[in-house]
Amino acid sequence: MGKVLYKSTRSDGNSFEASEAILKGISEDGGLFVPVVFPKLGVSLEEIFKLNYKELALNILGTFFTDFSEEELKYCIDKAYNDKFDSELFAPLIKKGEDFFLELYHGPTLAFKDMALSILPYLIKVASKKNEINKDIVILTATSGDTGKAALEGFAKVPGTKIIVFYPSKGVSEIQKRQMVTQEGENTLVIGIDGSFDDAQSGVKNIFNDKKMLEKLDAKGYIFSSANSINIGRLIPQIVYYFYSYKQLLDMGEIELGEKINFTVPTGNFGNILAGFYAKKLGLPIDKFICASNVNNVLFDFINSGTYNKRRELIVTNSPSMDILLSSNLERFLYDISDSNSDILKGYMNSLADEGIYTVNASMLNKMKDFYGGFASEEETIEAIAKVYKSYNYVMDTHTAVAYKVYDSYRKKVSDTNKNVILSTASPFKFPSSVAKAIDNTIEGDDFQKVKELSLLLNLDIPRNIKDLDKKPIIHNKTCSRSQMSIFVEQFL
Ligand SMILES: *Cc1c(COP(=O)(O)O)cnc(C)c1O
Repeated sequence: MGKVLYKSTRSDGNSFEASEAILKGISEDGGLFVPVVFPKLGVSLEEIFKLNYKELALNILGTFFTDFSEEELKYCIDKAYNDKFDSELFAPLIKKGEDFFLELYHGPTLAFKDMALSILPYLIKVASKKNEINKDIVILTATSGDTGKAALEGFAKVPGTKIIVFYPSKGVSEIQKRQMVTQEGENTLVIGIDGSFDDAQSGVKNIFNDKKMLEKLDAKGYIFSSANSINIGRLIPQIVYYFYSYKQLLDMGEIELGEKINFTVPTGNFGNILAGFYAKKLGLPIDKFICASNVNNVLFDFINSGTYNKRRELIVTNSPSMDILLSSNLERFLYDISDSNSDILKGYMNSLADEGIYTVNASMLNKMKDFYGGFASEEETIEAIAKVYKSYNYVMDTHTAVAYKVYDSYRKKVSDTNKNVILSTASPFKFPSSVAKAIDNTIEGDDFQKVKELSLLLNLDIPRNIKDLDKKPIIHNKTCSRSQMSIFVEQFL
């Protein structure tokens, strides 16, 4: 198999080994790392669907991370996918009526971010050794609620690393916040910022591009990396479960080998759905991607018009992990449909930074036909949870419910007989207020009480990692404004 090198979406200059791209997180020019030449699978589809989750992971990761040895990848995969997950399948596919839910929330923090963030720390560790880095690695992360805890869980107490998480103080659920602020480990720092996820994310990107700051840290013996989905080391592990859900459909006798299926993905930063697009490029038989947004529906507008316009107010919703106006990973998709044209990309991204808007050219718009965009309001989200609960006695979280609602509208509007998989991205226990409102609005109390009531009502065990969350001491109570972010980073280091 050929070597896969990585380059920036915004220039045709240097290329890097996978391990270097993973360590850097983001390119120095602000672009994201993409394969110089998109790789091909080494085995046939028929063979790949015989594999279990970990074997599949080895195959896909091996296809992209060609400077890692098989032993190194096996080590990372074993460390990541084990009994930290409460399902032996890691990503079970559940059929309810005609709907298929790919449950991606069986990891330690109850959201799909665990699928990739449980392996990223080990990929970074191995990459660091491989590149003979003798500095401490500082993971700098912005979170819309779920990435933060999943990254903290992965990096806490890992020797040679420090992790700093910025979250929007008023933009995450009570459970999400409590998961983060109770985080133990000397090497962790969690800070709430007065602002949105977009503010946190652009603040982090600015620190990454602040040459003076980087020099100072370098002198102190630190280098930065990222746990956000801008890091290619996080994106690639997410391709695995697209293949794995197809395999499960085959095993269930629901489809024939080669039959095309659709995926509906609740989308914020465009990371999860982009992993699906990469799966399709690798040859997985996918027809349509149904891209589901909440009322922060920049992507809906973009898919329908070709104009990306972030000039609007961010609205805090009951699906907070999707309250995003700047979908970072869209840049990788644009790069692809521009036929790898860095000049075009640079133009759009400059226009986005300066004016908050860009419009793609006609040929690119034409290549977006496989994507269907829809969105759901908060009320529709609650109604969807209620409807599915009544029909199937099955409970979705708010993000999954956004996807369900958008798919439900799609199938009423478009005649399409493909099987569809809904990516179920969080446990309903992570958003107990909204879930209680949908299925039994007599449930009272704070989020922790609601978790207990829901567990009784639904006859489901409370996931072990949030069971005694309300009794844990709060360790992190710092907040700051966007402009103070770099000061806090310097202080901590
Ligand atoms: C992060 C997240 C999303 C959005 O995923 P992206 O990769 O940002 O598009 C959806 N649902 C949940 C629960 C999440 O945590």
